[in-house]
Amino acid sequence: VQYVYEFGRKTQGNSKMKELLGGKGANLAEMARIKLPVPPGFTLTTEVCTYFYDNKLSYPKTLVAEVKAAVANVEKQTKKIFGDAKNPLLFGVRSGARESMPGMMDTILNLGLNDKTVVALAEKSGNERFAYDCYRRFIQMYGDVVMGVQPADENAHEPFDEVMDGLKKELKIKNDSDLTADDLKELIKRYQKLIKQVTKSAFPQNVYEQLWGAVGAVFSSWQNERAILYRQKYGIPAAWGTAVNVQAMVFGNLGDTSGTGVAFTRDPANGENVFYGEYLINAQGEDVVAGVRTPKEISKLAEEMPDAHAELEEVRAKLEAHFKDMQDFEFTVEDNKLYMLQTRNGKRTGLAAVRIAYEMVKEKLIDDVAAVKRIPADSISSLLVPIFDPAELKKAKPLTTGLPAGPGAASGHVVFSAAAAEAQVAKGNKVVLCRVETSPEDLRGMIASEGILTSRGGVSSHAALVARQMGKVCVCGAHEVVIDYGKKTLTVGKTVLREGDFISIDGTSGHIFAGAIPTAPSEVSQVFNGKLKPAKSYTYQMFDQIMKWADKHRTMGVRTNADTPAQAKQAIAFGAEGIGLCRTEHMFFEGDRITFMREMILATEEVDRRKALKKLLKFQRDDFKGLFKAMEGRPVTVRLLDPPLHEFLPHDDSARRAIAEAIGVTPEFVSDRVKALHEQNPMLGHRGCRLGITYPEITEMQARAIFEAAAACLTAKKKIKVSPEIMIPLVGFKKELDLQVAVVHKVAAEVMEAKKVKIPYMVGTMIEIPRAALTANEIAESAEFFSFGTNDLTQTTLGMSRDDAGSFLPDYKELDILPQNPFDSIDQTGVGQLVQMGVDKGRATRPEIKLGICGEHGGEPNSVKFCHRVGLNYVSCSPPRVPVARLAAAQAAL
Ligand code: ADP
Ligand code: MG
Ligand code: MG
Repeated sequence: VQYVYEFGRKTQGNSKMKELLGGKGANLAEMARIKLPVPPGFTLTTEVCTYFYDNKLSYPKTLVAEVKAAVANVEKQTKKIFGDAKNPLLFGVRSGARESMPGMMDTILNLGLNDKTVVALAEKSGNERFAYDCYRRFIQMYGDVVMGVQPADENAHEPFDEVMDGLKKELKIKNDSDLTADDLKELIKRYQKLIKQVTKSAFPQNVYEQLWGAVGAVFSSWQNERAILYRQKYGIPAAWGTAVNVQAMVFGNLGDTSGTGVAFTRDPANGENVFYGEYLINAQGEDVVAGVRTPKEISKLAEEMPDAHAELEEVRAKLEAHFKDMQDFEFTVEDNKLYMLQTRNGKRTGLAAVRIAYEMVKEKLIDDVAAVKRIPADSISSLLVPIFDPAELKKAKPLTTGLPAGPGAASGHVVFSAAAAEAQVAKGNKVVLCRVETSPEDLRGMIASEGILTSRGGVSSHAALVARQMGKVCVCGAHEVVIDYGKKTLTVGKTVLREGDFISIDGTSGHIFAGAIPTAPSEVSQVFNGKLKPAKSYTYQMFDQIMKWADKHRTMGVRTNADTPAQAKQAIAFGAEGIGLCRTEHMFFEGDRITFMREMILATEEVDRRKALKKLLKFQRDDFKGLFKAMEGRPVTVRLLDPPLHEFLPHDDSARRAIAEAIGVTPEFVSDRVKALHEQNPMLGHRGCRLGITYPEITEMQARAIFEAAAACLTAKKKIKVSPEIMIPLVGFKKELDLQVAVVHKVAAEVMEAKKVKIPYMVGTMIEIPRAALTANEIAESAEFFSFGTNDLTQTTLGMSRDDAGSFLPDYKELDILPQNPFDSIDQTGVGQLVQMGVDKGRATRPEIKLGICGEHGGEPNSVKFCHRVGLNYVSCSPPRVPVARLAAAQAAL
């Protein structure tokens, strides 16, 4: 097995080898292949990582020799020698997982410096200060990452920083840059002493010992807490492992003709086709990302280093032409010579993903198929997020403006720490996390907040990077904002906001406001509402075009889960082709209805029940009329009453007294009935079709409401077409369905006879308990359609309560028992088999049977793709997810 792949003059890898070389290694190789200036180096494969964890943190036997040979090749190309006291070669040791995990893993620069090589570096560069600064940085990184010299706890100071601050105090110096070479030599002594004190071992002078220490640290960082958390959030399996890249160092900190930067070939926040990025003169790479100094905009480089800037523009074009996607790349200029250190497909906001794909088609760089495939289906919904209400926004005066790094509108309580963010959110409050800068430790807080505001750091700072990926609103680098963690205040000029005060941030303009600004629907929604002309909204035009491309390629239908005409209309605007699930019980909670509903449930005699049902009938009929009207002849799947009855009952004393009075019974009677209806395990109790089995009059009333509403539409002056599909929930036995179907048909015949009209309709069932899937061939004899209720099917197949799984699912994810929350993304191997079985057995009995899904999964891209594969006719999801489902369905078909 080959464990080491070289890049440089001889390049063994390429961009397709991400699994083996990691994303960074594969693309370093690719850049070397297309003759971009990449410092030479080599990659230790992810197989070494796997070996490392499978073999008690040890390496394959042949690895040492392979590394030695690769080092020798880099030595030849750079004409420098690793560990040499005259002409030393230095390395950067960099992690590189298959998918980039920003800030999650540790990189060590300037490796190969020791007390001897540093002298040579000083001489060769003619810059003593530079050499000793590199050395002290190296010791600091190495001491921290490899030797574990770290703060005792979250609140403690960085031990190396403390030593540095101590020295600066003694020397009465403010800035790091004021430290002279001699000061740095003193600092290096103190750093080495610190390491010795804390770890009881000396900082290694042997460069190969340094190299192996660093390699081990990168592999070990795969299992650090931050990396684990990140993998959990993004569903990256722990088994993938990381590669390690060892690459010759180039120096951006050699003086004013050197620098380092990060750039994007297009704007990753809004997708605009402009060169976007930032750089620092006289700095080493990490300085840009760490947000310690606020970098300058890339356009300024044209003035400061015109040659390098021109070369970068060429690189920009070459990268896009080659990779056919927006690239995010790192570069360093060493004494006016440009080097490329990394490139990858740039992370982008949902908005940018859409815009870039859309415009790349217009530019003929890619075709519509590539565009549809490339846009993460989820990201289309970021065109639909609320914006600040334009009217309110006009009235509001921004406190100040930062860099717009994650579009959208966010407002919430000011919090200054991840812990405070989580605590507030647990109480049901919305928060905006305000930090000077963020680090990976803030990840939990960022997940919890609506938006993120930083006072320092640029558009490629950690905060901006992570926010964009999470789709969070983010404003960064707002210089005028002064954040005091101790006092818990955020100050802009004379305005002081304290923790808990409201703040609003606009990630599209970068504006920051005191107070909470109301939000308004997205531009796309405003076009649908007629408030905005399509021609006035570029966002809408993109949305519309992408949806058209998606519809051209998809073969599966997309319906919506909607209970009201308003929801239905919204969903139609979003492209829904029908209602896949109307939950009738939601209609019972409004106004007087709940009283009649309770009267019905509390009744012990059928006559009383029928009396109450009669009152409900009118409401239901009107509801369905509204729904049919809104749907204009599109199919409407109505699910009959499903939840356990006690969900409708009054649970506190005063409500019980009120209901007793309203329906003329004693409070004791109500209490007794409530007790009688109590269930230990209502999810598996008296619900679904079991209600209709024991109380057929409920089914009868609901069917009557549906058919009378349908008849009214069909016989109205302006005839409205209808296409009701009546769905019986929680069926496990064919006989259950038969009994319910008989009731429905009987009522249908009665209504059609009475109203003298023919109503087209279907009766079908949900497949949501395993027995229904197992016996789908029998059930299909009586069902004209199936709708897979994958919420309940998941609960019943896994024997896991959706409402209680939160306490153990995180552990299940980390231990790779489950790759994802099975209630978010369908468990394809388990629950999926039942769905497949239901499909096969259903079609065996009734080839023309209509098949759909109405669980929450219907709007989740991976599940949608699964539905396509097993051959469903449609998915149904909540209205805002409809565009996501359309796009995912197209991706499934391509
Ligand atoms: P991350 O994945 O966190 O971005 P990298 O491995 O890309 O980590 O390294 C972090 C920084 O170190 C980069 O921004 C880059 O500029 C700098 N760097 C990495 N390798 C080298 C190198 N060979 N020479 C100079 N700088 C480097
Ligand atoms: Mg990087
Ligand atoms: Mg169900």
